[in-house]
Amino acid sequence: MKRQASALSIGLLAITLTACLNGPTNSTPSQTPLQTESHSQPNSTPPADQLATETPISSPSLPTDPERTEATLLAIGDIMVHMPQLPAYYDRKSDSYNLTPWFTQVKPIFQQGDWVIGNLETPVAGKDLKYTGYPRFNAPYELAEALADAGVQLVSTANNHSMDRGFPGVTRTLDNVKQAGLIPIGTSSSAEEQLQMIIEERNGIRMGFLAYTYGTNGIPLPAGKAYAVNLIDPVEIKMDIARLRQAEADVVTVSLHFGIEYQRMPNEDQTKLARELVEAGADIILGSHPHVVQPYEQIDVSSSESDDGKPRQGIVIYSLGNFISNQTGNWKDVGLIFGVRLVKSRQADGSYITQCDAITTEPTWVHIGWKNQKRHYTVIPMKTALSNKKIPDLTAKDYGKMRILLKGISEHLYSLDPS
Ligand SMILES: [Zn+2]
Repeated sequence: MKRQASALSIGLLAITLTACLNGPTNSTPSQTPLQTESHSQPNSTPPADQLATETPISSPSLPTDPERTEATLLAIGDIMVHMPQLPAYYDRKSDSYNLTPWFTQVKPIFQQGDWVIGNLETPVAGKDLKYTGYPRFNAPYELAEALADAGVQLVSTANNHSMDRGFPGVTRTLDNVKQAGLIPIGTSSSAEEQLQMIIEERNGIRMGFLAYTYGTNGIPLPAGKAYAVNLIDPVEIKMDIARLRQAEADVVTVSLHFGIEYQRMPNEDQTKLARELVEAGADIILGSHPHVVQPYEQIDVSSSESDDGKPRQGIVIYSLGNFISNQTGNWKDVGLIFGVRLVKSRQADGSYITQCDAITTEPTWVHIGWKNQKRHYTVIPMKTALSNKKIPDLTAKDYGKMRILLKGISEHLYSLDPS
């Protein structure tokens, strides 16, 4: 795979893949005949079966351009709540938390995404089931609210902590994240819900979402309720991809909770499964679970390898790392906002194709500061922070540390790229 690097003015690094379209960037926000009114609340959640179009970046009305439209997926990794993260954000009077300060620095970046997705590595199952951190998590409802407020729209709920509060925890988490305006993927409260396809349309591009986990930390799925958590089973995943394709998804994005914790490179199980799924029609694979960032690569599949006999490409990020957590050191406090810009264009025969146009990466760092003997957490987008140096509470030492982290993670991200 060959690539060219170029810096975007918004501070994200864009890597233009040769297999993607290399045409000039259409900076005009795309408008399509399917456009509905812009929501003042970009996170309002339409039912999964009801298509909605949103433009998170408010823009004036522009002429419709049905020949070419574009939209960007932004993905983040593990969203975790360890107990030391909470005390500074508790308000005794209202007996509630306000976790929005964690995300103030990334919120402007999320506003640039048309789809924003993360891995919710904790049940949000209610206070009566007690808030706990490792090893069996349960985070306050306010976490879901804070994510929605920041601009996250979808969360994978299929991970090794899905069953930390049993089946009631699965259903309550689903109810709560929906209540907060997020779309959950990968866990279900009924067999019917598991069959519901999640296709979200933005600017005329229909993206289908799937999510699976390698397991649930040894906690068995309840008898007769195998639908509760989607487990990785290549046969099942391929059938789900085919169903999305039949439903005319332009793009299929698969979240996979897989790999080995704290390993910075993908193992053979990960690379093999990713290739198999791209051969079967997956376009974007979002890995999580190792708690450290693993590299991304483009997988090219020849016509003889692909399930439908057509050559195709897929983009795989093997692990997005920790987005927010109390884990520090050895790259555990470094995450990533991974962006894939997609372009849908009309062909001479009137049909449409959707292709990856560019990949953007904005590595993040969880800054932990002490105030009043409590820990304060902020997810810092490192490129943006280093270019404007305007973030309150960050010291020269913090910027120096970020410079080193950013250089290291940037080299690491591209390390599977042979060019
Ligand atoms: Zn995990």
